[in-house]
Amino acid sequence: MTDKAIVVAVDGPSGSGKSSVSKGVARRLGLRYLDTGAQYRAMTWWMLHNGVDVTDGQAVAAACVKPVIVSGTDPDEPSISVDGEEVGKQIRMAEVTAAVSAVAGVQPVRDRLIALQRQIITAALAESGGVVAEGRDIADVVYPTAESKIFLTASPEARAARRSAELGAVASGGAGTTLADLTRRDAEDAKTTRPHEAAPGAIIVDATHLTLDQVIERVVELVEAARG
Ligand code: C5P
Repeated sequence: MTDKAIVVAVDGPSGSGKSSVSKGVARRLGLRYLDTGAQYRAMTWWMLHNGVDVTDGQAVAAACVKPVIVSGTDPDEPSISVDGEEVGKQIRMAEVTAAVSAVAGVQPVRDRLIALQRQIITAALAESGGVVAEGRDIADVVYPTAESKIFLTASPEARAARRSAELGAVASGGAGTTLADLTRRDAEDAKTTRPHEAAPGAIIVDATHLTLDQVIERVVELVEAARG
């Protein structure tokens, strides 16, 4: 293995296990970890918290320059703050999940967060061995020169079951509700990004019949192969 710093792009639809896999891979390889979904969620939380109508694209565009969003990139303790307030828990609430696709569909929001993501990736390359960045558009938009590109997917049922277990069956209303929610969010996200399509050069990893450890192992192998 060489010491060259690298970027690993992990893209895929909701509930494919991107966060757990990306954190696990970052830990194994001593890399930083960037959760871009958390940034879109933090932006959305701030809009809701400040009474911005998230269905009004112009209002969202005008307001999106205001919040100061900071991502902590330690895979053992990832953090996300808005204007100095840690919002890791709040951004997982159902209200935020229901509104995030609309906010993420506003181009000035994307422009601002993509610029922030590139800054974080550049800093990680300069200061550490590199970074595992997860999202929907890392390989094709945020960082097309990533050395390793992974498209992580799983069947809709497997994704719903995973998300439902994460949220707790009572809170989520069970896997049926979660499947409907994931399908709706994928459809909304497809207006902005390509949640179901691998970017050119990305290797598809289907997690449907694999355990988390098996997926991490597979991705680590792919990254090491890409690293040479
Ligand atoms: O990954 P997560 O489910 O937390 O992402 C939340 C939302 O953020 C997605 O449903 C999508 O609307 C948006 N997103 C995006 N581009 C990314 C990451 C997330 O549009 N790179």
